[in-house]
Amino acid sequence: MKSISQSNKEKICELCGRSFEYRKKWEKNWDQVKFCSDRCRAQSKGASQKRITEFKIKIVDLLQLRSTGKTICPSEILQDDEKQDVKVMEMVRQAARLLVSEGVIEILQKSKVVDPSDFRGPIRLRLKS
Ligand SMILES: [Zn+2]
Repeated sequence: MKSISQSNKEKICELCGRSFEYRKKWEKNWDQVKFCSDRCRAQSKGASQKRITEFKIKIVDLLQLRSTGKTICPSEILQDDEKQDVKVMEMVRQAARLLVSEGVIEILQKSKVVDPSDFRGPIRLRLKS
């Protein structure tokens, strides 16, 4: 049996962008595992994956319109009627987490960079310099 090296024990979920750790149930196919949970895997097949990709593009577009070092509130990329939608807002956060894992942006709270897998409450986004 192939052993899993220490550095390979953590991955970034391709849907929600949260980091997740190797688990015993994945010992045979860890190389192919892309999602942290069945929920994320199921969602990845639906429309939400498409919307998250759109949100990623919108976030980067909007940030590039701002001057260097400026931040945006994630809800700025949404239409007014979407801003109250908890599910839509979570997709925007997922898009933001993925952009962090790709090294494109940073997530900030009170002007400090936070761990994309572990934050609560309002956030702002900034292009990584
Ligand atoms: Zn996930």
